[in-house]
Amino acid sequence: MIENPPQLDALVIAPHPDDAELGMGGAIVKMLSEGLKVGVLDLTSGEPTPFGSPEIRREETAAATQALDLTWRYNAGLPNRSLEPTLAARELIAGIFRLTRPRWLFAPYWEDAHPDHIAATALVEAARFWSKLSKTEMPGDPYHPERIYYYYCVHLKLTPQPDFILDISDQWETKLKSIEAYQSQFVVGRSAEPPTFVDRLRDEAAYWGKAIGCRYGEPFASREPIALRSLRELF
Ligand SMILES: [Zn+2]
Repeated sequence: MIENPPQLDALVIAPHPDDAELGMGGAIVKMLSEGLKVGVLDLTSGEPTPFGSPEIRREETAAATQALDLTWRYNAGLPNRSLEPTLAARELIAGIFRLTRPRWLFAPYWEDAHPDHIAATALVEAARFWSKLSKTEMPGDPYHPERIYYYYCVHLKLTPQPDFILDISDQWETKLKSIEAYQSQFVVGRSAEPPTFVDRLRDEAAYWGKAIGCRYGEPFASREPIALRSLRELF
């Protein structure tokens, strides 16, 4: 099990290494710049892929982690391409919640084409509940993360209707650097003709930025109502 994990403010759970960066790299950088402790929990290795290998993906993940300057990152070692929200996986992930005690969880959006992503959402929701149980064999003390928010890293031509959009104009370049660390996923073997994968990402971020009157934005969803401490948070 994990040795001396830090206590986190936010934990982003990703089915594969790169989903956290794609879906909410900007929000991660913003939270860190505000002094919050942010971790990423990758559920699987993400491999095999056409141009990757376990070693390459590990190196790329380390480079992305460095670009974001994450507080903590861990790979749960669950099976890629056959991720399932099993009882054993639920206990494992709930144990990690109990040890790292994040206030907020960020999970993949619930509607997707990739079965691993759908399984990840179900797993996070079940583990959040499981984490608060007493009289169990799980490590740490019972703990219930206050909120789950959902980021969009979706293999489906969705037109999202997000519940909020975060201004990530100042974080965009760092987010891009973390994504470009995954050369085997987003550069190698892809067409260099515009629009490239990165062009599309920028267009998307600009679209969400336009929706809230800034340069770049990142959309999020929530099943539960979103609480505000002050209307000054609105703009
Ligand atoms: Zn993925």
